[in-house]
Order: sequence, then structure tokens, then C-alpha cells
Amino acid sequence: MEEFETIKKEDKHLAREPNLKDYDETYRTFSWEDARKEVAFFEDGSLNAAYNAVDKYRGTDKWEKTALIWLDSDRTEKRYTFRQLSEESNRFANLLLKLGIKKGDRVFIFMPRIPQLYFAFLGILKTGAIAGTLFQAFGPAALKDRLGNSEAVAVVTHESLKERIYEVKGELPELKHIIVVGEAKEGEVPFSSAEGMSPEFSIAHTKEEDYAFMLYTSGTTGKPKGVLHAHAACIQEHITAKWVLDLKEDDIYWCTADPGWVTGIAYTILGNWSNGVTTLIYNGRFSPDSWYKIIEDYKVSVWYTAPTAIRMLMKEGDEIPKKYDLSSLRYMCSVGEPLNPEAVVWGMKVFNKPFHDGWWQTETGAIMIANYPAMDVKPGSMGKPIPGVVAGVVDDNGNQLKTGEEGNLAIKRGWPSMMRAIWKNEDKYKSYFIGDWYISGDKASVDEDGYFWFVGRADDVIKTAGERVGPFEVESALIDHPAVAEAAVIGKPDELRGEIIKAFITLNKGYEKNDELKKEIQQFVKKHMAGHAYPREIDFMDSLPKTRSGKIMRRLLKAKELGLPIGDTSTLEND
Ligand code: ATP
Ligand code: MG
Repeated sequence: MEEFETIKKEDKHLAREPNLKDYDETYRTFSWEDARKEVAFFEDGSLNAAYNAVDKYRGTDKWEKTALIWLDSDRTEKRYTFRQLSEESNRFANLLLKLGIKKGDRVFIFMPRIPQLYFAFLGILKTGAIAGTLFQAFGPAALKDRLGNSEAVAVVTHESLKERIYEVKGELPELKHIIVVGEAKEGEVPFSSAEGMSPEFSIAHTKEEDYAFMLYTSGTTGKPKGVLHAHAACIQEHITAKWVLDLKEDDIYWCTADPGWVTGIAYTILGNWSNGVTTLIYNGRFSPDSWYKIIEDYKVSVWYTAPTAIRMLMKEGDEIPKKYDLSSLRYMCSVGEPLNPEAVVWGMKVFNKPFHDGWWQTETGAIMIANYPAMDVKPGSMGKPIPGVVAGVVDDNGNQLKTGEEGNLAIKRGWPSMMRAIWKNEDKYKSYFIGDWYISGDKASVDEDGYFWFVGRADDVIKTAGERVGPFEVESALIDHPAVAEAAVIGKPDELRGEIIKAFITLNKGYEKNDELKKEIQQFVKKHMAGHAYPREIDFMDSLPKTRSGKIMRRLLKAKELGLPIGDTSTLEND
């Protein structure tokens, strides 16, 4: 994959001097104590991530600065200053207190991306309770699993979604309160009752190690896991928002992630506001025109999105972005799935700057490996570990492998935003570790310059004719063909070769599904990759199965192919 030319720092057209000026120097000298100095502790040494995101600005010039620009799907717009975020979340915290919510209680949010979601999240943290998030598209079964497993005592929801909770409420004995935005019926708590509460609140002096939020993983590889994070996570979320997203005081920052997933918590609430940055939230669906229009209208300067969205934009072609003035964009990042090198290069072509890929997980709580503004980008590489993080590639016994060898992507224990538990599943938690290493479940390699390269999920790596082949590389080669929009690759059992590579692809506009095209694509991959690593079988698809956070679910394709049970599909899109 290194056939793609390195994008030199000078060629990125950086409009501003980066916050992280010298990666190597900072990596060498940094200690987490330095980052702790940048977040706001209480005088007694306690740390509350909501206080750090919002209330620390009281008495500063940021207090009346716009923190949130909220944009509804119909383009209704509302703006909130840090002061207003503080007051609204304080009111909500007072409401929770009145309901008897205590420190450590799980209070879940099941809402569209409306302003109340953000007030509620901050308010929950302020009481010392644990905020959980549930993606708005979840159905009753997914809700039951998560609210049941976490023994949530309250759920904050919206009139348009609440009926789904009632479908399973009988099976949720711990669930006492349903707080509803919009029309509330008897027995429910109207969110609006917070309006009568005091805008002042005495924020809980939580300890760094106290739990702040929990959420369930995306369910890409199996049943979602309930991951617990401590208030200390905000230390790393702060420093990565500063270094990796390169957020600056005068930015208009748009992250497209939903708080139902960890990116939406870490980088649309805690890390971004900790840096005092005006954050745009769009409560609408994806379409190239609406997205480009938002960038134009709001002069978005930093944009954080996901490979699936970038691939969709690519698929729609290069003419649409030309209709818009996108000159405000100064920096672009991506997370969630491997970012194909084609997508990085496409960024250069259309926006005159690359997308900066970064790797992390629900469990890691913040960005771990990334590309930085001040560093050359090798398209297809996840970049280098953030200062303070030691990443490595290890075998199944925890022995570090040599440069270039593929193995388990692992992190040395002890970064601030590391998950503190898997809810009620100590064994699962322990299973992540071999000695000092946290084992991510992803396969990767590291090159001679220290750049990390994603190979695939451990479960997805294909063994064909005695060779191990990572799906990412084959998928990227497929996407490089002009006809292919998206690709997912699996190993299909084969008597002769152990496994053969089978690809599922969607096509770009204007291409016809036929055998000739299949052959041409096979030849194309054969030429671009090692001969054994081309897909012997290709199926044309109208769309690929994805999680609701936009990740390709290879396990589903594989199960269907093999006629096996498909497992947990609670996060499957269009279910
Ligand atoms: P589950 O653990 O339930 O199967 P999931 O792993 O998709 O779901 P998340 O925690 O949301 O849940 O996603 C983390 C995973 O996403 C990583 O382990 C990795 O496989 C993938 N990922 C995230 N960012 C990148 C990236 N930049 N490059 C490659 N893969 C990435
Ligand atoms: Mg995972």
C-alpha cells in the first residue's frame, strides 16, 4: 500500500501553525502530568469532566462565547454559549437530584441529536452519576440489552422515541424514571420541568477514577460490550482534540459523530469544549449537498468525519463540491474504520488537503494513533501513537514483533482514557490484557519510520494458500478501481487453499454489473497486489451491511456466505 506517495507536510497547505509543532520532540519529553495541567481540577484535586468542559470558563472571556451551534435537519438553528450550557445542564442536574439520582447511578440518554442531549449528558456528569448513551435508531431489543445490562435507573428520551422503551419496560425492573423531551404522560418526567429549576448547581467533586460515562461498542465483531470510562478520560480527550484535531480558539468545528458512539462523547462534548471551541452539531441525515452546504454556510474550519461518509462523498463525484465555497476548511480528520489511501488522496484533489486518519476504540476512550498536521502523511497509514502512548505489534504471547511483521496491535497499559471496566464482566475486561499490553483485537504492522498500518480485525484476517491476507489491503486495491465504490472482503473456506478471498462490492454510478467487469476488477487487483491476494469470487451488492455508525459488518457477510447464524444484529443499519 505504500505505493501511494507520501504527502509532505509542506504540501498539505496548512493555513495555521499546528498546536503540536514537533511530534518527535513532544513524544520524547511529554508526560501525562503535562496534560493534567491543561484541564481544570477543583482545588481539592477532584476532577469532573463536565466542569472541565463548560463551567471552568465562568469568569473568563469564553463564558459568553458560542459553544454550540445546533442545526436541525430543516436548517432551524440555535446557538448556546458556554454560560447557557452551564445553566441548562445545571437545571437538568437539579432535576436529577430531585428524582433521587445518586452518584454511580446509570442514567441513559436515548435521543436525537438535539440540544437537550448535550444538556443532559453534562448534567448527569455533574451529579456524579454515570451517563450512558444509546443511538437514536436502536430498536426495543437493543434497548433492552443495554438498559438491562447496565441496570439503568433513568432514561432521558424524546416523545418520538419513547414508545420503544415501553415495549421492553416490563423487563427492566431497575428503570424508575423516564424523562421525556416533548409531550410527557402521567408517570413520566417532562424534561421541561427542569426549566423551573435553579441554574446553579454544586457540581460533584468526583475523583479522576470515578466513573463518568459508559457505552456499548459498535457491535461490528460480535455482541456489544459495556465499556466504563472514568472522569480522567477527559485529560486525554483534551490533549488529543488539541494535537490531533488541532482545534484553535477561533475554529468552527464540525464532528459528524453521534454521541451514541464514543467519538460523539469524546469529541462533540468533552474534548472539544475542554478546548473552548465552537462546535457545530447537525441533527440531519447525510447527503453530499447538505454536508457541503453546511461547510460553506457555517465556514467550518475543522471537520472530523468517518471513512464511510468520505467514500460516499467520493462516490457522488468531484463536481458537487465545486458548487460550494469550501475555502474555510483548513483541516480534516477521519476515524472509525480504516481510511483507504484513495480517500486520503481524494482529499488532496478536491479540498487541497488530506484527511488525517486516526485510530482508537470505544475501549481506549480517546485517540491513540494518529496523523498530525505537522507530520508527513503516508496514505493508508493510521499514523503514530500520540505522545504518552506506547503502541506496539505483539504476538499472541505479548512478545513484540519486528518492524514490518503483522501481529496484534497493542498498547502499553496506563493511558488516562483507558476503559476502567466492562460492566459486570470482569473476565471480559481481563481478557483484553496480556501482561502489560492491552490487546486491541486489531491486526497491524509498524514500518521503519514508526508509522502504523492497519491490516484488519483479528477475526477478519484471511489465511489463503498458507499466506495471511488482511482484508483492508484487498479492499483498498478494489476501491482503487474506478468502478468500485465500496468493498468488503472475507475468507471463504476452500478445500484446496484453506480460504479463498471473496469480495462484496458496490459500484460507482454509470457502471454495469456483469462478468466482464468482475474479471477486469480481478485482474486489476492481481496486478496491484500479490497474485494470491486477489478475490477469486466477487459478488455485486446494492449496499454493504453496516453498523449504524457506518462500519462494514464483514462477519455478517461471512455468516451469510457460510449459512451460519448471524449473531447480534442490534447495531445493524436498516434492520
Ligand atoms: P465491537 O467491538 O462491538 O465489535 P467496534 O470494534 O467496531 O465494535 P468501536 O469501538 O466503535 O467498536 O470501534 C473500534 C474499532 O474500529 C477498532 O478496533 C478498529 O477495528 C476500527 N477502527 C477505528 N478507527 C480505525 C482506523 N483509523 N483504522 C482502522 N480501523 C479503525
Ligand atoms: Mg471492538
